Amino acid sequence: MEKPLFPSEYMRITQGYDEGTHKSSFAIDNAGKDSGISDIYAPYTGIIKKIYQNDANEVWLESSDKVEYPDGTVDYMTMLFAHANSVDNLFVGKLIKKGEAFYKEGTKGNASGNHCHFECGRGRFSNSGWHKNSSGYWSIDNGERPEACLWIDDSIKILNNNSYEFKKISTPIVEKPKEELPPKQEDVEKEKNEEKPVEEQKEKLKDELVPKDEFTFVAPKTDLYGVYLKENQKLTIEELS
Ligand SMILES: [Zn+2]
Repeated sequence: MEKPLFPSEYMRITQGYDEGTHKSSFAIDNAGKDSGISDIYAPYTGIIKKIYQNDANEVWLESSDKVEYPDGTVDYMTMLFAHANSVDNLFVGKLIKKGEAFYKEGTKGNASGNHCHFECGRGRFSNSGWHKNSSGYWSIDNGERPEACLWIDDSIKILNNNSYEFKKISTPIVEKPKEELPPKQEDVEKEKNEEKPVEEQKEKLKDELVPKDEFTFVAPKTDLYGVYLKENQKLTIEELS
């Protein structure tokens, strides 16, 4: 299951939630690496559900499947992104793969410098996807704190986290190949016990075989002969009468 990842390679939060134009919402502004335009990466695999070009090119991305929230809960997630100068690459219904650079920072709408305004909402996209909040700003439905929704990992460089503590995805532990263990003592004992009857049987068999396996050599005249004997074979030399 996917863990939604912070959507920028550089965390540089220039406006936190519930302050200024983010009053009564959990929206944040992220200005990325520098004053230029940084890419925004899909935090999860999802579908574009809405594009609103009359304001700040707002785009709603709904997760295709349920995702894992940092508190361990599992649910769908819908995010709203704003301020890209162009959304010509996007359309409603487009599938976006996790990690895909699908959106950009910009200044479209009421933005003073290049950044991306985004919000996280719990659950699937529904109705218009947003509402006018008590402070008069349009914000996503079922909004939650970004650090309660998004994870970070070693690829995210933190320049300014605005004192928000994001949970880190632990690096997967590479499993070592299993070491060859010496056989357990009880297995050794078992093996010995199993071997014993077989050895006894062999001894018995050998005793039975030996008498039948006697070899009598009768030479017709005086000469040099080679005789090939099997193990434990008894050789008897008889004088030809
Ligand atoms: Zn904003």
